[in-house]
Amino acid sequence: MTDTCKFGEQAVPPPPSLRLRVEGDAIADNWRALDAMSGPAKTAAAVKADAYGVGIERAMPALLQAGCRDFYVAHWAEVAGAAAFVDPSGIGVLHGPSSVEDCAYARAIGVRPVLNSMRQAGLWQETGGGRCDLMVDTGMNRLGLRPEQLGDPMVQGLDVDVLMSHLACADEDSAMNERQRASFAAVIAQVPHRRTSLANSAGIALGAAFAFDMTRPGIALYGGVPRPEMASAIRQVAFPEAAIIQVRDVPAGETVGYGATYRATRDLRIGIVALGYADGYLRCWSDVGVFRDGEAELPVLGLVSMDMTVIDLSAAPHLGEGDWIGADYDLPVAAKRTGLTQYELLTSIGPRLRR
Ligand SMILES: *Cc1c(COP(=O)(O)O)cnc(C)c1O
Repeated sequence: MTDTCKFGEQAVPPPPSLRLRVEGDAIADNWRALDAMSGPAKTAAAVKADAYGVGIERAMPALLQAGCRDFYVAHWAEVAGAAAFVDPSGIGVLHGPSSVEDCAYARAIGVRPVLNSMRQAGLWQETGGGRCDLMVDTGMNRLGLRPEQLGDPMVQGLDVDVLMSHLACADEDSAMNERQRASFAAVIAQVPHRRTSLANSAGIALGAAFAFDMTRPGIALYGGVPRPEMASAIRQVAFPEAAIIQVRDVPAGETVGYGATYRATRDLRIGIVALGYADGYLRCWSDVGVFRDGEAELPVLGLVSMDMTVIDLSAAPHLGEGDWIGADYDLPVAAKRTGLTQYELLTSIGPRLRR
């Protein structure tokens, strides 16, 4: 750089006015709780989608420290993020290889592809084979070979580490759970493999018969409670927090925000918070969300904007510009309030908040 090009060079950006506080200890505790519920089975961790939005760089160290050794991502582009923390042989890639390039990358890094179709299995074998995981579809009709395809000599020749299937209704009391468990149990003897795996987070609560050799929780590691049996064991992990960037007094009768949907019924002191739907604090929180300052509840007034949310400061009149507050984001409660799933609430958390 020459000295004619110095704009911004020395300037360090000031700290942001929003953040996602992530409690790594809670991730570790949640993994230990799920591992205990998994009985003698080993407990892996789904860390796809940037560890469900909480950040892979925060999740991986906590999971490793807790004792987790098996990790799953969905995309090939997610491999490097996980491989920065753990021996790549402990990483599985759920989407499997769609191309020769995917296979070459898997071998170069040393991660295991999860083979999900005859085409993927053939591609893996033709490009040299090697250790892999194999997904069998036991009724979800998403990814995986059909049970009747497992006898194929090409499939029989695979070097399968984890033979797995995935439950469609584990968060419900559905007869489908037992049907899938039984069909998985029935195919296990048909393919040579080292380990077996069926249960996601919710599946762990279905009991020992669903644990097989390894469980694969995701959402519950990050504070989701997919079945009530887990409620007492799972701690909240992700806490959106933001600064109040303006405080103002609204006379009774005036309105607040886009659409003028909220009308003050008395004189109000309100705070403008630097968190909006671009950060994943979606419009469904309009008039529904609550921010908190200690015990004080500060309800959202009117529509959430792209970069801002307006709150009622009546219960915490001491708050002023620059003060930080947290949004209520306990996942099971938040899901009931908004109609979103706990998965959506976590994974929609935006990049401005994560950094
Ligand atoms: C995402 C995923 C998991 C984890 O599921 P949760 O419901 O988040 O616990 C486990 N197995 C597979 C195949 C997955 O795609």
